[in-house]
Amino acid sequence: MTKFVFVTGGVVSSLGKGIASASLAAILESRGLKVTLIKLDPYLNVDPGTMSPFQHGEVFVTDDGAETDLDLGHYERFISTRMKRANNFTAGQIYKTVLEKERRGDYLGKTVQVIPHVTNEIQDFVRRGAANVDVAIVEIGGTVGDIESLPFLEAVRQLSLRSGANNSAFVHLTYVPYIAAAGELKTKPTQHTVEKMRAIGIQPDALLCRADRAVPDEERDKISLFTNVAPAGVISMWDVDTIYKVPRMLHEQGLDELICMKLQLLTKPADLRRWDHLVNEVTHPKHEVTIAMCGKYTELSDSYKSLNEALRHAGIHNHARVKIEYVDAESLEEGKADALAQYDAILVPGGFGKRGVEGKILAAQYAREHKIPYLGICLGMQVATIEVARHLAGLENANSTEFDASTPHPVIALIDEWQDSDGTIQKRDANSDLGGTMRLGAQSSDVAPGTLAWQIYGPVVTERHRHRYEANEHYLDRLRNAGLVISAITQREKLTEIVELPQDVHPWFVGVQFHPEFKSTPWDGHPLFTSYVKAALDHKTARRAPAGEGRKETA
Ligand code: GLN
Repeated sequence: MTKFVFVTGGVVSSLGKGIASASLAAILESRGLKVTLIKLDPYLNVDPGTMSPFQHGEVFVTDDGAETDLDLGHYERFISTRMKRANNFTAGQIYKTVLEKERRGDYLGKTVQVIPHVTNEIQDFVRRGAANVDVAIVEIGGTVGDIESLPFLEAVRQLSLRSGANNSAFVHLTYVPYIAAAGELKTKPTQHTVEKMRAIGIQPDALLCRADRAVPDEERDKISLFTNVAPAGVISMWDVDTIYKVPRMLHEQGLDELICMKLQLLTKPADLRRWDHLVNEVTHPKHEVTIAMCGKYTELSDSYKSLNEALRHAGIHNHARVKIEYVDAESLEEGKADALAQYDAILVPGGFGKRGVEGKILAAQYAREHKIPYLGICLGMQVATIEVARHLAGLENANSTEFDASTPHPVIALIDEWQDSDGTIQKRDANSDLGGTMRLGAQSSDVAPGTLAWQIYGPVVTERHRHRYEANEHYLDRLRNAGLVISAITQREKLTEIVELPQDVHPWFVGVQFHPEFKSTPWDGHPLFTSYVKAALDHKTARRAPAGEGRKETA
């Protein structure tokens, strides 16, 4: 029978609830338990697919094609269980299901209400996501006290009651601010947030006290006394330079022991050696490379969470610190592409919409002409294709129909018919719904022998997708003749998956239609990113080579 740990948050958001949940899961996994994580999001969007990355950070895509909260990315990077559609759901999905049932007549004769219909539906969703594991860690988005969170908290309280004593535990993440003027850490917000929990019938078993420093015993005792949480359950979670230190931090303070005691789980002791090793690699790099990321959502690195992590993992596998510098694609359009000369590699990540696209095309052109390693992901592959079409194949004003509907050369375009993995045929045109109509999830392609892609992936590549537009097959021969190598094609629809330049023309120039970043983990890294960061290191070394490279030092 599955046991539950419910993780809630208080006082403010952005305290790292996702990392805390994933860390607890990782420690429990190291004790030999089969663990999964489930994220409940109390907002009304059916999935985060239609939300701006500005507002909500990255949309993480699972193998089975669900567009999910970015916390699922942390989960997959921290534990070995793979996430599925059932591991993340929103209030929108719950209400949609309840309303569909109501229309079908499933509740005939009844008044449909938040309690019990919505709360029961939430419990059913949680149980479905928690099947076949020893422990399911259920993270509830938002903060306690939000109107939206209430049905979720009520549902997990009921679920805890229904699953019986010693089958569930509550962990509450709270904030302990340091007030400089008083020179003190303040416990009052924590007292209040636990009070709110207790008012709705939930007594936390553990408090994770986020602060910019360790919370001393005196304050921990005070928190314990006012919140009715045993002193051993008041755990300090201070700021760290790498998230990989969090599992060890929580373990040292006995969080996993406390949870296993509460859930009556007899296991072997935790073994966090691989985390220690990881932290050591991250904090002692031998080299450093700087990568220019040319994007639009330049302000918020959360929009590219998995990508940043994948680059860091690749750094770990090359014993290098990877510095990522955001370059606003729009600024490149004003004749500032030379600013890219200083970087060891250039990356154009995924993106939607016209703004900044010409700058991204310039970035691809600059990388190609100056032989700087280039990785284009999804949109980044599309702009590299447009660039080659315009400047090598002589297809003037070539474009994607996403950005120019009347381009004379739609080298990137919508394909009008698409078969989903379950066999259903989807029709698509420019007026299709924006939610849930993309090519999503894992698909496999065959890789052409003799290419860079083959060196990296071998004969088959299976990666996850999230996009609408595709390389237009009617232009492939012209692009090939102009020097672009189409190095991978999907097995089923024969769609272009990887493009590259021959290695005698350019040392490392690759565009991929998929999102490889979703499958990178700190343990295995990812072959594509590892190869790219290695190319960046090589480029840096070559640039620094004294023998007449003619590189002018800038002042
Ligand atoms: N906007 C492009 C498309 O929809 C690329 C999407 C992406 O980069 N994820 O095809």
